[in-house]
Amino acid sequence: MNGPKTMIEFMEMYKTEEDCHQALFEHRWPEGFCCPRCGHDRAYTHKKRPLYECTACGHQASVTAGTIFQGTRVDLKKWFLAIYLLSATKKPVSSAELGRQLGIGHQTAWTMRRKIMHAMSRRQGELMLAGVVEMDESYVGGASKGIRGRGAEGKKPVAVMCEQNESGGCSLAHMQVIDDVSGLSLGEAADSYVAPGSVLATDGFPSYLPVGKLGFDHQPLVTEGVENAADLLPWVHIIISNFKRWILDVFHGVSAKHLQSYLDEFCYRFNRRAQRTDLFRRVLNRCVRFTKPVTYGELTVS
Ligand SMILES: [Zn+2]
Repeated sequence: MNGPKTMIEFMEMYKTEEDCHQALFEHRWPEGFCCPRCGHDRAYTHKKRPLYECTACGHQASVTAGTIFQGTRVDLKKWFLAIYLLSATKKPVSSAELGRQLGIGHQTAWTMRRKIMHAMSRRQGELMLAGVVEMDESYVGGASKGIRGRGAEGKKPVAVMCEQNESGGCSLAHMQVIDDVSGLSLGEAADSYVAPGSVLATDGFPSYLPVGKLGFDHQPLVTEGVENAADLLPWVHIIISNFKRWILDVFHGVSAKHLQSYLDEFCYRFNRRAQRTDLFRRVLNRCVRFTKPVTYGELTVS
């Protein structure tokens, strides 16, 4: 099924609640109805409520049950517009802006935004980096100014990993909040995101020595005497700088508790930037098929 390529197409496709409901049905059951309880393929439809009653077992299924839309009191039209604004735009907005655009309260907008971000979070093993991979660590957040480099107070360490492509560009990137910049923490991050056998390009920071022994071809670069470290590992610096600028511009910073979700959202979009015009359809599909319901309480737990 095709998604909207422009905002005009989006507006044409999803004019009514019924249009949105039909789209959810098609994402959820692309081959036609399938009873979640018994697998039967026929259902009675209800006139007044968007429910499907299995003709074999009587189970009542709804297209939103078991998805991030479960139990929502917000119109599907607003959900769809929120997904569009967070997936198809180059610089997605904050929940405050989302609330203004949709005409909903701030907490509702915040919860919706976080649920959509949850659908964008990386699944284990998804898009592993391979080939030549730059790895570095950076510090994000905190109020302290003027403190730079490893150990800056009030900031969270983040492992940044970027796969280089053959023309010197960056094909994929991942970022992971880590407890500290020890070899153990950096090693765990490399293990989760980088395929074994890849070339791992890092600076000379000693913590990378044990990481290099985890089945990577470790190539520490000599940074001594080099004025600008960004020249040696260009992509990790570009990615983390762009991320920091985005969270500063749009959110005026994010709390350490939610940092990983924003890193995931940023990388989700970056890694699929060549398919931006298809991202609404892809994110909607993840919301419907691959993301379990999550509550406000679960989203706010640290
Ligand atoms: Zn059934």
